[in-house]
Amino acid sequence: MQLIGKYMERKYFTLSAFLIIVIISVSGWGYLVHRTVAQLAIYELPKLMQAFFYTHKDSLVYGAPRPDVRRNQDESEGSKHYMDMEYFGDSAFSVVPRKLEDAVAKYSFDTLNKYGTLPYVVVEYMGKLTDAFRSQNADSIVFYAADLSHYIADAHVPLHTSINYDGQLTGQNGIHDLWETTVPEVEILNYKLSSRHKAKYLASPEQEIWKIIEHTFSLLPEMFAQEKEVSKNFTDSTKYRWEVRWGKNRRFYTSAFAKEYSRALKTSINDQLIASSNALADFWYTAWVNAGKPDLEKILKQSYNKRGFKAERKAFLKNQLVAKKILISTQRMTKD
Ligand SMILES: [Zn+2]
Repeated sequence: MQLIGKYMERKYFTLSAFLIIVIISVSGWGYLVHRTVAQLAIYELPKLMQAFFYTHKDSLVYGAPRPDVRRNQDESEGSKHYMDMEYFGDSAFSVVPRKLEDAVAKYSFDTLNKYGTLPYVVVEYMGKLTDAFRSQNADSIVFYAADLSHYIADAHVPLHTSINYDGQLTGQNGIHDLWETTVPEVEILNYKLSSRHKAKYLASPEQEIWKIIEHTFSLLPEMFAQEKEVSKNFTDSTKYRWEVRWGKNRRFYTSAFAKEYSRALKTSINDQLIASSNALADFWYTAWVNAGKPDLEKILKQSYNKRGFKAERKAFLKNQLVAKKILISTQRMTKD
């Protein structure tokens, strides 16, 4: 008995330690959206990339949240997921250097580490993916393509571009989780998860990611203002729920509030999700072109289910991925 008890105790401990790690790691768009973004981008790729990316779909989709998991193990990871643009002044987008080395020279590495390096990290991972294509290493291509998908998706979340990243400066604590996790969780079945976008070549990925972040940043005033507006119809007890997370009793917004908030923001969160996939397809495609368009079918170890890809792509174009149970992220809507 005692032995079993000890065993159970240990097993329980391992399980709860695992759960804690998993729960802490849920940040950024949340697993649901990170996975969705990676899957949708696959359908926007040109013919010569389809076989490889579709065959590695599961690894790409399940790998997309990985950089958030790394945050628990690696202290230097955190600052890669955001950039607090307000710190750099009112004309941040014209004064912050586009190249990391110039930015380090101007602001110091410590400052950047504190206020975030997201756009530089996108360029860095773009380089890693290009190298992986060049060396035709299938595992590295999948690994860096998934990592890149994460950072590009984070660059579409307004609160990843702000010093007021959780509404903590305006009495709107919890808005981070509301916008990027709770709203998508309650709304994803109603989202338009289709796009006519076809991967296009980016002459300057560096300029592109800064353009993306500038647009993302421009969404902040509206998202804070709508939270205040919607709050007028809620009391504290209908607006918030309490949940023990990270060992503390923490306040979260209710699903009812998330639904109203989503209605107030119209399509803006859905639009950012689709914009993430569109941009991701462009970055993947550009890395492949810059590597000299290597023949990806040559490094494919499994056979390619072309018919499967075609059927899924058709469902994607018709916004039927959820209805046809093809969208991996909604097949198991848990925070695992
Ligand atoms: Zn992240």
